[in-house]
Amino acid sequence: MKNCIEISWKPDRTSSIPAYQQIIDFFLSSVSSGAFAVGMRLPSQRKLSELFEVNRSTVSTAIAELSSYGIIKGSYGAGTEIASNTWSVLLKSNQSWSKHVLSGNFKENISTLQMINQLEFERSLLRLGTGELDPRLFPVKLWQKALSRVGKEVVSLGYLEPLGLYELRCEIARHLKKIGINTSPKCILITSGSLQALQLISVCLLKSGSKVFVEAPSYLKSLQVFQSAGLELTGISMDKDGMEYWKMLPLLKPSAKENTSVVYTIPSNHNPTGICMSDKRREELLDFCLTNRIPVIEDGAYQELSFDDCSFNPIKFFDQNGMVIYLGTASKTLSPGLRIGWLVAPQAVVKRLGDAKMQMDYGASSVSQYIFLEFLRSGMYDDYLFRLKSVLKKRLDNALNVLSENFSSIADWTKPHGGFYIWLTFRAPIRSELLFNAAIKEGILLNPGDIYDFKDNNSLRLSYAYITESEFEKGATTLKKLIIKLQSEHGRKK
Ligand code: PMP
Repeated sequence: MKNCIEISWKPDRTSSIPAYQQIIDFFLSSVSSGAFAVGMRLPSQRKLSELFEVNRSTVSTAIAELSSYGIIKGSYGAGTEIASNTWSVLLKSNQSWSKHVLSGNFKENISTLQMINQLEFERSLLRLGTGELDPRLFPVKLWQKALSRVGKEVVSLGYLEPLGLYELRCEIARHLKKIGINTSPKCILITSGSLQALQLISVCLLKSGSKVFVEAPSYLKSLQVFQSAGLELTGISMDKDGMEYWKMLPLLKPSAKENTSVVYTIPSNHNPTGICMSDKRREELLDFCLTNRIPVIEDGAYQELSFDDCSFNPIKFFDQNGMVIYLGTASKTLSPGLRIGWLVAPQAVVKRLGDAKMQMDYGASSVSQYIFLEFLRSGMYDDYLFRLKSVLKKRLDNALNVLSENFSSIADWTKPHGGFYIWLTFRAPIRSELLFNAAIKEGILLNPGDIYDFKDNNSLRLSYAYITESEFEKGATTLKKLIIKLQSEHGRKK
């Protein structure tokens, strides 16, 4: 029997370095120091996750990376062992990269999000806050129909025009008309998802050091796209009608001319709160921005997911002066894997961004563009969207009932009329990291509210889009028990 490694080390939970990275570093330093010799056997994955007090997926991520370096080998079931101690040599040759890893302009994602991004692929976890449609709702038959038609009609797959497939831009213009946006193909840029649109805007149109006013909380705060371009995100609070835009006033430079600020807003079915900005607030916000010469980036990711008669005009509908750049995406309605988004802006802006996009990736996937064109042109998209909204509405109604039954005495929450999200706020303080880790142990993946906010909060972003009614109920009731347990433990410690 080979000598088994003994471990009495644990990742530091208070560190900002993700646990899997700490585990990798621990193995590397143990191997390079000679503490772990070639041929020594590692404890099982289950045992390691117990020893390190981390989820098994964290261990398997670290193990996979160590295997890719050649430091360990073997299939996990049959035992894994230290395979090489040449790491110290390797490390030296890699050092030129390791010192550069964090020195580029693009900032690292916050560690909780890095963890969520990984844990989303852990099948056993129930995802109670995921911002993605349930894969079981994917319209497989329509997809196959679209693929088969595209397969017959498209006979080559070259690069497309700088702004994207012309026919697709025509269809998107036609589609946008239905939601109140009058535009033409030359004012539309097809992007690889709306995240790319945000990135293009941040590097091409905004000056480093400028302020970007966003709702507090905001999806944008959970990313580093704008911050990486040297922009400063400033949170503006919301009420039930949306962003309280007047709170920007004291933060502006005295002369409108000097202002380089912009507004980024998700007015419809906001991520993460589910709030819909009222029509009145939309008009007032636009007036305010016009007066103070503040351009607006309107993220319409959930614009077409309003249930019942509750849809609001996009802010772009009120825009007579080309102040608003509107972003749309197929990610929330159909599939994020298509990586298809669109941006509507004055022609000069679209041309500038299209030129930058060509330098970055030479266009969004041609296959995806043809397929999405087929979805729009055939009318399949509208029919499907209609059915999708009725499924989501049922899930929302169920989620609100489940919350009323379980959380009325300990929390408050928003009551959305569309989109994916409910914002749940506990009345008593919670330590979100503690709750996040404890929930994982109970098989639930949470999206803590802090990720999206400018200050600590007691909130969670819940989503009813990824899981069924019964899964939501199961997740929410487990969560409730967990909260009560944590609060009683906390009470005892006081
Ligand atoms: N904007 C908002 C408000 C979102 O919620 C998301 C996805 N979470 C995106 C943009 C990015 O979507 P895409 O897949 O189109 O890049």
